[in-house]
Amino acid sequence: MAANLLDHDLDGLAAFCEQLGEKRFRATQLFRWIHQKGASDFDQMSDLAKSLREKLARTAEVRPLPVLTEQASTDGTIKWLFDVGAGNAVEAVFIPEDDRGTLCVSSQAGCAVGCRFCSTGHQGFSRNLSTGEILAQLWYAEHHLRTRLKLAPGERAITNVVMMGMGEPLQNYAALVPALRVMLDDHGYGLSRRRVTVSTSGVVPFMERLREDCPVALAVSLHAPTDPLRDELVPLNRKYPIAELLDSCKRYLEAAPRDFITFEYCMLDGVNDSEDQARELVALLRGRVSCKLNLIPFNPFPASGLKCSPRARVQAFAKVLMDAGIVTTVRKTRGDDIDAACGQLAGEVQDRTNVQQRLTRQPIRIHATTGGSRQETR
Ligand code: SF4
Repeated sequence: MAANLLDHDLDGLAAFCEQLGEKRFRATQLFRWIHQKGASDFDQMSDLAKSLREKLARTAEVRPLPVLTEQASTDGTIKWLFDVGAGNAVEAVFIPEDDRGTLCVSSQAGCAVGCRFCSTGHQGFSRNLSTGEILAQLWYAEHHLRTRLKLAPGERAITNVVMMGMGEPLQNYAALVPALRVMLDDHGYGLSRRRVTVSTSGVVPFMERLREDCPVALAVSLHAPTDPLRDELVPLNRKYPIAELLDSCKRYLEAAPRDFITFEYCMLDGVNDSEDQARELVALLRGRVSCKLNLIPFNPFPASGLKCSPRARVQAFAKVLMDAGIVTTVRKTRGDDIDAACGQLAGEVQDRTNVQQRLTRQPIRIHATTGGSRQETR
């Protein structure tokens, strides 16, 4: 099978070109054609020698992912479902705002972490995406949107990327890092380190490696102020509990000292949303790690058995945090009419694990101290 050139960062492409007997600057030209101009036809690449174009045509391709569906929300959000073969499909979501265009990208077909409140988690896990499959989402969205939005030459549609689609990106580390490098590369998408965010449920060993290899912005799914509750909501917490996670966050910022960690906190009615729990969160975070809190209204789906916190409770929770000096935002829900909001991405997953069964069979038992009473949600 022909090599997929989307699988390579610039160093990888240079190594590939070397095998063809070509110099590094040829790889740079090729890389710019692919990522900056969106070209996939080697004949278009007019500054490459004809002999190289012929060699490329024989050995390589720029392999897009077939688009199965596209849905556009009334608020401008666009969601694409990409076919990744063998009955699996992954989603990417474009979220336009006045001053930016953000693309939410998937890293795996499904997810093995199995967070209770996450629609992807309930689908189970099939496989990791390759670097090329991660980048094909960005490549397609950027170049499709440039045409669709009639952007001027040199204008970019996507200014920010968040690895927050389907999957736990740090459980697909080997494919993730080259993809991040292409996003950051000035010959690729030229995004600054702060405009590319990896969102993790807390895979501590790979947070340590990312800090060394490619310290982009980091968002951590926290969702609970205590280990017993986080054990229920984010099962990975049993392996990497909160204290270990926060120590790793602190070390991460040593590689990016002017940055902060964004903690994601999904607001679940009667589970993690009391003012007492907000105070526990303050005690946990204040002075320990430079951070922002992002409160996410939960997008309910039937299998979760969970409900979204009432607005007033979200505001009361946010007030406790803000009064304690923690920068806190309540995320706007975007694209919920097309199931593109956070935690709603489900795609199509041929589950090869027992995650789906585990989450479906077991009743959800979430114990939280709310106003002194112990609560169980099913
Ligand atoms: S929230 Fe993230 S890590 Fe958790 S199940 Fe969903 S995709 Fe996986």
